[in-house]
This record gives sequence, structure tokens and C-alpha cells, in this order.
Amino acid sequence: MAHPRYPLRINVGFVVSQSIGYSREFHFEFADVYLQPDLDLYQFKGVAKVSRTPQGLLVQGHFQASTPTQCVRCLADIQQLLETQFSELYAFSSRTMSESGLILPEDGNLDLGPIVREYLLIEMPISPLCRPDCKGLCTICGVDLNTETCEHQSMGSAHIIIPGSD
Ligand SMILES: [Zn+2]
Ligand SMILES: [Zn+2]
Repeated sequence: MAHPRYPLRINVGFVVSQSIGYSREFHFEFADVYLQPDLDLYQFKGVAKVSRTPQGLLVQGHFQASTPTQCVRCLADIQQLLETQFSELYAFSSRTMSESGLILPEDGNLDLGPIVREYLLIEMPISPLCRPDCKGLCTICGVDLNTETCEHQSMGSAHIIIPGSD
């Protein structure tokens, strides 16, 4: 399946002409999706509620997806689940702009890709783990201690003998 270049672009022009308080939900679901310039996502699901306010359109998003990464302890390839909720105002003009400085494009085509990418990346753990109690790799022989045991683990840590280099 071809990937759309702007998978999270929605046309919200019609919301602008509605009365204050009107809102509309946009649902997204992709088995896999790519958010430029660097984010591969799987099982992507989300909803954006777009509401007309006096200052602009308020977007309340709730998105989740998983992204491929590596466990920092055992180096296994894992899918890290990311979930985020956010509210952002896309202002009608720079006079009503919020701190994040977002302005509604004149053509009413709103690409939520950059903002969803940013919020999902905030949720990315600095040290991803395959599971909270991952035992990691033996620092001496390198076996995966989640699936194997090795002689080095039965020794008291005070008695570990590191073999000479020759
Ligand atoms: Zn692990
Ligand atoms: Zn070992």
C-alpha cells in the first residue's frame, strides 16, 4: 500500500464557518504510517476533536502507536508503545496566537503530522525496556539472562574473577 505523504492532513475549513462551540471529531487508523522526517509507526490510532473558538480552532488530540526500537539491557528488537494527549490552538491570526505559535492555514488544510510526531516523541522513553524486569545480558559472556543462565551469575559479585586478556 502506498503511504500518503501527509497521512494526518484534515480539511477543517468548514469548521471555521460554524458557530463558536461547534466541534467535529476526526478519526485515524493505520496499520503502519510514516511521519516525516523520521518516525515509523505501527498500529496507529487516534482522534482529533476540532472545536471552533473565538480565537481559532482548538485541536484536542489523543493518539497512540508503537514504534520499533531496542531494549537497552538485552538489545532485543521491541515495539515501544507511545500514547499522548494534547490540546493546541490553531489561531486565525497572529493576534490570537497561543504560545506554540500555530496558525490555521488559509486553505483550511491542517496537517497534524508534525505536532503528533512531536508529542509522540516526548513519550519515547530514554531507556526503552522489553519488559520492566529485563535481566539484560551477562557483562562477561554476553548471554541473554532472560532466557539463559551462565556460570557468572551464580558467583557472588565480590568474587567475580575477570579472566586475563591473554
Ligand atoms: Zn530486554
Ligand atoms: Zn556469563
